[in-house]
Amino acid sequence: MTHRIYNFTAGPCTLPLAVLESARAELLDFQGCGMSVLEISHRSKRFEAVHEETLALAQELLAAPADFQPLLLAGGAHQQFDMIPLNLLADGGSAAYINSGIWAEKALKEAERVGDAREIWTGRDSGFTTLPDALPPLPADCCYLYLTSNETISGVQYRDYPTAAVPLVIDASSDYYTRAIPWERCAIVYGGVQKNLAPAGLALVFVRRDLIKDHPRVPKFLTYAAHAAANSLYNTPPTWQIYMLNKVLHWIKDSGGIAHFEAESINKSGLLYDYIDCSNYYQSDVPPACRSRTNVTFRTPSPELDTRFWQEAERQGFAGLKGHKLLGGIRASLYNAMPKSGVEALIDYMQTFAAKNA
Ligand code: PMP
Repeated sequence: MTHRIYNFTAGPCTLPLAVLESARAELLDFQGCGMSVLEISHRSKRFEAVHEETLALAQELLAAPADFQPLLLAGGAHQQFDMIPLNLLADGGSAAYINSGIWAEKALKEAERVGDAREIWTGRDSGFTTLPDALPPLPADCCYLYLTSNETISGVQYRDYPTAAVPLVIDASSDYYTRAIPWERCAIVYGGVQKNLAPAGLALVFVRRDLIKDHPRVPKFLTYAAHAAANSLYNTPPTWQIYMLNKVLHWIKDSGGIAHFEAESINKSGLLYDYIDCSNYYQSDVPPACRSRTNVTFRTPSPELDTRFWQEAERQGFAGLKGHKLLGGIRASLYNAMPKSGVEALIDYMQTFAAKNA
């Protein structure tokens, strides 16, 4: 039997075993063509079929309306930090950013290089453990409100997305396909795929079609128009990532779709937070109303014990529990491919550790 441990890494991260096995089984000979999917042209009929199906499944599973165009773009989420303001502020106007954590802040800093981007709220003083109670006023000429659905590092997540006078741009990288999207409020929804969907290096971006325009002064490769016109085959795409994304989307569909994974996400994170809150040993810095369901951050009574916790955990078959270097502590990432049994095993380990190190 293959040796597999529980992998709580924040991303790249655990992928469904069934998907890895299926990819392994056909790695050398894809659909009987005598070549690997890694070796075939992105313009071949075989790959185009995978590509088309992936786009269609991505749209169907997240219930994205037809007026949103799905795009598969290399460059991960970082490239979107730039493409979003380059495209949406090309004709002027301003953008409002909610600075809820390291990822929102990175997006803001990029947007500031491009145009009139304003931070309308920051959680920096709280160590990025909170979200705004109410929406602050938006700047004049505001074109979009940018938010990070789930801050992967500090572990804060919107329960409900805000409603604003302007459309939302949502970075859903770390809770993509774990919850529904309020499409009627959105201009762009995007995420890097390396948490819930596929290996790293690709972004899945949904852009409202009326916003897809050529901007002659923006480098063509960085316009949504170029990629939309070529159905995401403008340049040679990361074919392996797209092929794996296709398999994971099938796995999501066969498992019961977003509704199933949303329930799982509530269930798995609920088990862990309930244990943390009852333990008198572990504590979460994040108030319950904005706790992430996909990245659960917590601490033991001291930084030294935090280190001992994740080091010993590694020896016992739990990978990736070390908190992000900026915050320390412990972080357990509970993406779709993490089974409930992994969370239960982690809680067992936490109980034993707390008893031993009280
Ligand atoms: N946004 C969020 C919420 C993230 O968690 C990450 C990566 N961890 C990024 C953006 C950046 O993704 P990438 O490295 O694919 O550019």
